[in-house]
Amino acid sequence: MQTITVFRGDGIGPEITDAILEILDAAGAQLNYEIFDVGEAVYQKNGEFIPQNGLDSFDKTKVLLKSPITTPIGKGFRSLNVTLRNKYDLWANIRPAKSNPCLDTLFKDINIVTFRENTEDLYVGKEEVIDDNTVIAYKIITKKASKRIIKAAFEYAITHNRKKVTCVHKANILKKTDGLFLSIFEEIAKDYPQIEANALIVDNTCMQLVMHPQQFDVMVMPNLYGDIISDLTSGLIGGLGLLPSCNKGDTHAMYEAVHGSAPDIAGKGIANPTALLLSSCMMLEDLGQQKTAIAIRKAVDKVFADKTCLTPDLGGNASTKRFVQSIIDHLKKDEGKN
Ligand code: NAD
Repeated sequence: MQTITVFRGDGIGPEITDAILEILDAAGAQLNYEIFDVGEAVYQKNGEFIPQNGLDSFDKTKVLLKSPITTPIGKGFRSLNVTLRNKYDLWANIRPAKSNPCLDTLFKDINIVTFRENTEDLYVGKEEVIDDNTVIAYKIITKKASKRIIKAAFEYAITHNRKKVTCVHKANILKKTDGLFLSIFEEIAKDYPQIEANALIVDNTCMQLVMHPQQFDVMVMPNLYGDIISDLTSGLIGGLGLLPSCNKGDTHAMYEAVHGSAPDIAGKGIANPTALLLSSCMMLEDLGQQKTAIAIRKAVDKVFADKTCLTPDLGGNASTKRFVQSIIDHLKKDEGKN
C-alpha cells in the first residue's frame, strides 16, 4: 500500500476528486489517502489556502493528486498551483494529448506529449510598476532549468520509442531569453542523433497544430508557451476534460488535470472527471501499479466507445455520477472475466 496526499480543490475540484477516488477503489488501487480541502473555499473558512497539515502530508508522501484551484485574475493571492510547483521544485510538467478514436473529434490520430518548463519564464510572477503609464514583467530563463526540461524531453523520447522532439520558442524576437532556450536545445539535441530534432516559432506552431497536428510527437518549451500550447492540444483531442498531466521534480510529484476549477459548471454534477482520472493513471504507472492503470484506461475506452454515458463536454448528456458508474461497471465486468 502506498500513501498519497489528495487535495480536493475549488469549483468542480471536490466533485471530480470524489469521483476519481471511487474509481481508484473499485479498480483495486493499492493506495491509502490523506485527503485535504484546499483553495478559495477553505481560505474563506479558516484563512489558509492550503492547511499546513496538507503540506506536511505532501512533504512526507512525496506524491500529490491535486484537483484544480481557483486563482483570482488581476489581483489577490499568487496562483497556488504555481506556488506548489515552485515550493517543491516540480520542474517538469508533462502533458500527453492522445486522441481516442471513439470520440467525435477533428483529428483521430493525435499523440503529442508536451514538456512544459514549470518553474520560471513569466511565471516567476515578478512585475513592477514603473510609473502611472508603465508596468513590466520579468521573463526569466536559466541554463539550469532549460537544460533539465530539454534533456527530460529527449530522454522520454528514447524510453517511449518516440521519433521527434520539437522545441517551441520566439527567439526571433526574444533573442536573449528564448534564444538561450533554443541554443541549449540545439546543443542537447546533438547528444540524441537517433531522435529527429526541430525548432518552430510559437505562432507558426499554433497554425501547424491546427492544420497538421500529426507532424508533432514530443514538444518542449518554456513555461508560458507550454500552458497555452497544451490547452490547444487538448482541443485537438476533445477538450480540457480529457487532458492529464504530471508535475515532476527530483523528489516529489504532483498529478493534476490541465483544466481549471470550471466555475461555470461547478455544482451542476456534469463535470468530466477523465483528465484527473488519466492523471491518476500516470501516477499509478509511476508507482509501479501498471495493471490497475491499464484496467482503468480500458474501462474509460469502453465507456467512450459505448457513447451512452458521455458527459456534455463530449457531446453526451450523462451526469458525472453516471459516467463514473459506467466506468466502475466496466471495471467489475473485466475483473469478472480475469
Ligand atoms: P477552466 O479550465 O476551469 O475552464 C475552461 C472551460 O473548460 C470552461 O468552459 C469549463 O466548463 C470547461 N471545462 C474545464 N474542465 C472541465 C471538465 N473537467 N469537464 C467539463 N468541462 C470542463 O478555465 P478557466 O475558466 O479559465 O479557469 C477557472 C479557474 O481555474 C481560474 O481561477 C484559473 O486560474 C484556475 N485554473 C486552475 C488550474 C489548476 O488548478 N491547475 C489550471 C487552470 C486554471
